[in-house]
Amino acid sequence: MSESSIFTRILEGEIPSEIIAETENVFAIRDIAPQAPVHLLVIPKDAQYRNVVELAGGDPALLTEMIGLAGTLAAEHGDGDFRLIFNTGAGAGQTVFHVHAHVLSGGLEEGRLGG
Ligand code: 5GP
Repeated sequence: MSESSIFTRILEGEIPSEIIAETENVFAIRDIAPQAPVHLLVIPKDAQYRNVVELAGGDPALLTEMIGLAGTLAAEHGDGDFRLIFNTGAGAGQTVFHVHAHVLSGGLEEGRLGG
């Protein structure tokens, strides 16, 4: 059996991190190394999907739920405008292979964050 992902360990309270939102299927935390004034991670509780392509193929409703929570949190924590980033593959910067969405908001003027 493979080791739990860092996000599962956070969800289970093994690693401290405030869970800022939670539904039956999805939860959200603040990124430990923020790249914008608001930098949240929206994560399915189910760790079986390694990236967004697997998730879209396996459970599109769960992907839709993640996007909905991202929008809600961007409005609550920022001005409602946001970037939604799914790094997919190590070559694209993915380091945690438990699918998650980066929600970036505030201070996203042109030229920053790869925009
Ligand atoms: P990836 O690079 O896989 O797209 O994103 C993983 C993200 O998880 C990174 O932005 C990284 O800063 C964040 N991260 C890694 N470990 C922790 C942690 O222990 N707590 C929190 N809150 N974020 C983490």
